[in-house]
Amino acid sequence: MTMTAELISVGTELLLGNIVNTNASYLAEQCARLGLSLYHQSVVGDNGKRLAGVLKEAAGRSDVVILTGGLGPTKDDLTKEVVAEFTGKALVEDTAARKVVEDFFHVRQIEPKDITENNWKQALVPEGAIVLKNPNGTAPGLIVVHENVHIILLPGPPGEMKPIFEASVFPYLQERSPGVIYSRMVKICGIGESKVETMIADLIEGQTNPTIATYAKTGEVDLRVTARAEDESQGKKLVKPMIRELKKRFGFYIFSTKEEETLEETLVTLLRDLGYSFAAAESCTGGLLTARLVNVPGVSEILKQSYVTYSNKAKHKTLGIPKVIIKKHGAVSEKVAAEMAKGAANSAGADVSIAVTGIAGPEGGTPEKPVGTVFIGCYVKGNVTVKEYHFDGNREKVRESSVVYAMTQLRECILSQPRVK
Ligand code: ATP
Ligand code: MG
Repeated sequence: MTMTAELISVGTELLLGNIVNTNASYLAEQCARLGLSLYHQSVVGDNGKRLAGVLKEAAGRSDVVILTGGLGPTKDDLTKEVVAEFTGKALVEDTAARKVVEDFFHVRQIEPKDITENNWKQALVPEGAIVLKNPNGTAPGLIVVHENVHIILLPGPPGEMKPIFEASVFPYLQERSPGVIYSRMVKICGIGESKVETMIADLIEGQTNPTIATYAKTGEVDLRVTARAEDESQGKKLVKPMIRELKKRFGFYIFSTKEEETLEETLVTLLRDLGYSFAAAESCTGGLLTARLVNVPGVSEILKQSYVTYSNKAKHKTLGIPKVIIKKHGAVSEKVAAEMAKGAANSAGADVSIAVTGIAGPEGGTPEKPVGTVFIGCYVKGNVTVKEYHFDGNREKVRESSVVYAMTQLRECILSQPRVK
């Protein structure tokens, strides 16, 4: 027996496309975490009649209905009024909610007599509603239970909605949802999405519990293994053999099994653990690779220097690549990538380095070297490996792919070589 949930996002701005419905994506994820089945989402403008229609339909088919937006003080904010009407409850003043409005104006040195009437609207709640504290605003969240349907109202601004959800709604729903959802993430780099899917096709076919969901990003595929269980320890038990199987299949292409961990973090950690210092020579990525690594706190322990050597002259002057080599092979070539990697490591006095040179487009492609051709060189303690890539997409995508594959390639070079310290 599962519980079904449904989302209603209220706001004309959402319908017009003026704002992106990030609340819905956040709440949908949270419902999945709670093990609630989500079959419907709606967006409706600030219109009482249409909102009432959507609410009626939602409450008729779902156990939980979560509405966001339209809780504020203005005339077009009417979610609460519609819910009160639908559930047949009167709107009554809530003392605590009134105090929040008073305090809000008090700290802004506005006298109660000067507070405009519409603000008191935020202190009104449907009779018998559970009032949820909103530490970041004046309109509280609300829960109204009507004929076994949990109707949950949350303010529209994400900065108010999320903290209320986390502090009050999540525990409320967790208590009522049968069982738990336990999930683990397996993050893979260096293998394309379709290949990953082929490699796990047999696992996905006929899966029931746990299930695997794939999320493809640029140069990265994340697999989420999810189990429905009675409690967390049973969930862990169900997920564990699947994680073990995925580790067997993907080996070191799995760079993390932690939800929040990024590829650059794992690379920086790897280099730090080995005591390897790092340098980079970037041409078509123009510093993007270094910027990604610098996202990681503590990168200063390993990062010696990066060179943005865009022109041939810079490649010669800064990295010491002989002009004849560039002339003979072209700046986008295996040879130049190798020389750039060596040059960066030598100039910076680093143990490892990455060099990227390629044609990001839209111009500059030739039949032999079309747009998207990128050579990435990795230097690890004297050994240089260069790989040729052909990336799809526009300039931005080619540069982004270059960065991800560069980090992946260096990880691979380090992990597949016998450790030389
Ligand atoms: P307020 O008290 O600020 O008026 P409210 O609960 O009445 O809050 P709305 O007036 O519907 O909410 O929306 C206020 C703002 O919240 C919007 O301008 C928008 O920036 C943000 N917002 C509303 N709904 C969403 C949503 N679904 N996703 C992302 N942001 C949203
Ligand atoms: Mg509003």
